[in-house]
Amino acid sequence: MPIIDSTKTQVTAIPHVVDELCHVCRKCLARTVCKSKAIIQLDSDEPPFIDASRCYGCHLCITTCPHEAIVLDRH
Ligand code: SF4
Ligand code: SF4
Repeated sequence: MPIIDSTKTQVTAIPHVVDELCHVCRKCLARTVCKSKAIIQLDSDEPPFIDASRCYGCHLCITTCPHEAIVLDRH
């Protein structure tokens, strides 16, 4: 019988950066705290984005971003 791991579903929820809320901080604190380097910023004038293949869903970036620009997808 398959075992449904509800915990896993919860911890792998991938957040994303809302461009309109992001202040494009000179030093993105969310990037600093992300241990898996999943928050990528290609251009210092553009908001960063989250690489879902690297993110392990710890959600530390959500609580760290001072402008609440990182949120979970709502489905
Ligand atoms: S800390 Fe938040 S508001 Fe600042 S650049 Fe990073 S995601 Fe954007
Ligand atoms: S949820 Fe964790 S691993 Fe994913 S981008 Fe945020 S800080 Fe990095």
